[in-house]
Amino acid sequence: MNDWRRFTDTERIAYFSMEIGLTTEIPTYSGGLGVLAGDTIKSAADMKLPMVAVTLLSRKGYFKQSFSKEGWQIEEPVQWDPEKMLELLPGKTLVTIEQRDVKVQAWLYRVKSPTSGELPVLFLDTDIPGNLPEDRKITDHLYGGDRAYRLKQEIVLGIGGARLLRVLGFQIRKYHLNEGHASLLTLELLNRHRRPVEDTWDERASWDTHKVQEKCVFTTHTPVEAGHDRFDYDLVEKVLGPIIPYPLLKELGGQNELNMTMLALNLSHYVNGVAKKHGEVSQALFPGFEIHSITNGVHPFTWTSPYLMSLFDSYLPGWANEPELLVRIDLIPDEELWEAHLGAKAYLFQYINEVLDGVQLDPDILTIGFARRATAYKRANMIFTDPEKLLEIGDGKIQLVYAGKAHPNDDHGKRMIQEIREQASFFGDRLKIVYLPNYNIDVASRLIPGVDIWLNNPLRPLEASGTSGMKAALNGVPNFSVLDGWWIEGHIENVTGWSIGPPPTEVSTDVSTSDEDVRDLYKKLEEVIVPLYYQDKKGWIQVMKSAIGKNAYYFNTHVMMRRYVTEAYLR
Ligand SMILES: *Cc1c(COP(=O)(O)O)cnc(C)c1O
Repeated sequence: MNDWRRFTDTERIAYFSMEIGLTTEIPTYSGGLGVLAGDTIKSAADMKLPMVAVTLLSRKGYFKQSFSKEGWQIEEPVQWDPEKMLELLPGKTLVTIEQRDVKVQAWLYRVKSPTSGELPVLFLDTDIPGNLPEDRKITDHLYGGDRAYRLKQEIVLGIGGARLLRVLGFQIRKYHLNEGHASLLTLELLNRHRRPVEDTWDERASWDTHKVQEKCVFTTHTPVEAGHDRFDYDLVEKVLGPIIPYPLLKELGGQNELNMTMLALNLSHYVNGVAKKHGEVSQALFPGFEIHSITNGVHPFTWTSPYLMSLFDSYLPGWANEPELLVRIDLIPDEELWEAHLGAKAYLFQYINEVLDGVQLDPDILTIGFARRATAYKRANMIFTDPEKLLEIGDGKIQLVYAGKAHPNDDHGKRMIQEIREQASFFGDRLKIVYLPNYNIDVASRLIPGVDIWLNNPLRPLEASGTSGMKAALNGVPNFSVLDGWWIEGHIENVTGWSIGPPPTEVSTDVSTSDEDVRDLYKKLEEVIVPLYYQDKKGWIQVMKSAIGKNAYYFNTHVMMRRYVTEAYLR
């Protein structure tokens, strides 16, 4: 009755992403990219857009984070049972890896919306009898293994994904590549659209790049040259083999190494960055291509705490599927919004108490939240640059809640976490600092709504978007952030929150603003934020309301999806 085959009745947008974060129970995501993909799919389901998503099964997940006594990150695989959450689909396909056939199958998850919209998500899997033991492990670890392992995963995702969609009978009108990991699907499409002339494999004219471009939309997420996925051609020849003639592959993917971003740029008719600024930065990185921008969003229903949700339901009915209604936030009385926020705060503090064995935070104290991937450019420890100064401002008046994982190979990130944990013992009870383990969707949805301000101080212009700040705004938690990513568009000083450091200027990766950032961070905390919080609750609640009414009503995945449809998919 509820047969999956009905998904193949309509032409769909195929959304390809290496990671997708839908719920904590499906741990096939590591961070922002995956959560954005999950939110995108949820909004598409709410809006009943014809879409099908394709990703990897990642049987061992990303990793579970805990800490040693010394505060060093410990990583363990996350075990989950795809069999319990997903349906195995009947079709299989083959991809060629190191000159052997590798079977690929797909598991189906249905994203169901209260609007009755429903979208299929396919999780690709190579753990199939008949595949070599090493090939059965290709879809085990998200972002694990060496370059060869990554390339094999990208073959499964891009080529295997495109083939499996076809085997299962899906009709695809556009392919949306969420980051370059799935770029190899363009090579599969090139083969499909080859002009049918005998014995012309080596001739450029037999390959119709234009046909493939018409089918592909590409979203880039990385604002630095070094961050883009690339592979040595020696490795490509060995692992991928001759899928298209090498001169053509080098023309499209780069002469010296196969750059997955270049490949996608060359074979997509629409390319975008994930915030206005990020679009400009990407344009400077890749001159010669036209790069647009569609600013990211967050899924309103997923990221609103239950406390705020019941308020929104009674004053702004329909808000979850029409988040523009949040513009009417002033309908909600101040006291009720504050009460709801205190509810979310108490819920977080209860969680902290349970997870960290009795640690007690004070609900009357201004609480700063900071949670994101622990990596150098995010500068999680910047607020500790001058501990004496911080204590002078915040003694008894500030507490800090942290979370975030470092990539297993990122010792610098792990050291940064350790340092924050050491700061906690330095400040003691005068300025409490807690570090919550194992940041994931569940932790984020408790943490973000439960703090009073959301701190973000990355090095410009490395924060492509920064979606956690949008989750904060949705919950009436104002942002206190460096002007980078989405915040350049969402920031109105003293109205929606506060900036840190100088305004955004020309595109550069100049790190020399660090001192200025630190000075401004302390100055605003001391002169504006702490006084407002303790001496002018009404003024504070006004900022909370503006975060909702002026930020959240716009920076959500419903608005974002309408833009993808009108600006990218329908072109
Ligand atoms: C939202 C989210 C992120 C992304 O946050 P940024 O602001 O982009 O760093 C990462 N991890 C989890 C678990 C999230 O929920």
